[in-house]
Amino acid sequence: MSHIVHLQCVSCEKTYPRDGGVEYTCPDCGPLHGTLEVIYDYDLIRRELTPTKLKQNTNYTHWRYLPLLPIEKPELILPLAVGWTPVYRNSKLAEEWGIKELFVKDDTRNPSASLKDRASSVAVVKALEKQVPVVTAASTGNAASSWALFTALTDMQTIIFVPETAPRAKVAQLLLFGATVIQVKGTYDEAFDLCTQAAEKWGWYNRSTAINPYLGEGKKTAALEICEQLEWKAPDYVFVSVGDGCIFQGMWKGFKELYQLGLIEKLPRMMGVQAEGSAPLVQAWEEGREECRPLQPRTLADSISVGMPRDQIKALRAVRESDGQFIAVSDEAILEAIRILAREVGIMAEPAGAAAMAGLKKSIAEGILPSDARVMVMVTGHGLKDIDGVMQAVTHQPVTVHNDLSDVQEKLEPFLS
Ligand SMILES: *Cc1c(COP(=O)(O)O)cnc(C)c1O
Ligand SMILES: [Zn+2]
Repeated sequence: MSHIVHLQCVSCEKTYPRDGGVEYTCPDCGPLHGTLEVIYDYDLIRRELTPTKLKQNTNYTHWRYLPLLPIEKPELILPLAVGWTPVYRNSKLAEEWGIKELFVKDDTRNPSASLKDRASSVAVVKALEKQVPVVTAASTGNAASSWALFTALTDMQTIIFVPETAPRAKVAQLLLFGATVIQVKGTYDEAFDLCTQAAEKWGWYNRSTAINPYLGEGKKTAALEICEQLEWKAPDYVFVSVGDGCIFQGMWKGFKELYQLGLIEKLPRMMGVQAEGSAPLVQAWEEGREECRPLQPRTLADSISVGMPRDQIKALRAVRESDGQFIAVSDEAILEAIRILAREVGIMAEPAGAAAMAGLKKSIAEGILPSDARVMVMVTGHGLKDIDGVMQAVTHQPVTVHNDLSDVQEKLEPFLS
């Protein structure tokens, strides 16, 4: 049985029992304002989640934090290796950029190759607990391909809404995992609203971001892992790419919970990175507003191409509470970050997956970070998911030759120094 006390509305603070009638958002406040927060019995968890017990725990997936996850029936957990992704220390870049330590967490190494698996793995258990026949989600691509992977292993039917522009590799994942794919002629934001309507009309279980309260719970495990992997010393700054804001707010909740449990002594500042052409949270934060103005997103980073961030209330709260910042980066800077991650860290990232790194580079250039800063950068999605995006980051093309060594010699001439 889970240690949930209740679900609580982020706006009116009304509470709902964990297995009561309210599944998604607060009926009084509605979606957007009425996102629910999962509140646990932290006194109980404090006894179960200790550094010693974790050291003895040989489950190297994100389920090692089960006491802090919203699962009623652990026997329904699917046997896939989610989480416990590597953290790389990069001393060369840290020195070059004048910070004390740089860490990069490679969350491309999850079953469907993005961080979204942390959330889907939790949501699928919730759907199985409820014994629903049909599940759905709207997604720019990664949440859907992740959801389809997990639900493929169940008897549930999966119906996915993606914008028509979703990268082919993500659509390939969806089709391969057996989902019914609805490509919406429109933006992600439009696909999201259509999916919400369909789910309500036909009673499907909905994994869409910020409608479903359990996704951030899965995503927060990235923060829990970071602290354990850094021996319970949280970084000073955590850079996260931001679309809807669910990873960002979820990770902040994870850090806060560890603090509340006495597992870390200091909280990090949360640095949210958006693409310039899709930066409603940056704008709201800079103008001191409590919510976003919707806009028409334009960026090559499809996973963060979001005009109306669904988790904006929690995300804006997280940046304020953590004394962090929201940063906008150009598509050019994202492409440069893809190259840096590939050549300096050894990670192939999709554009949204590299945006956080671009945010760090910009913060360094603007002198925002002190020289003693310990920095963590999240890499959220794999480059093979968006080959067209990655190809824009490359600076040269293959050399074609005849089957002839002299032709090789001739064509190689410009490349040899
Ligand atoms: C979903 C996603 C994000 C953004 O996450 P939000 O929770 O929407 O802010 C960033 N990077 C990748 C690769 C993603 O798939
Ligand atoms: Zn409410």
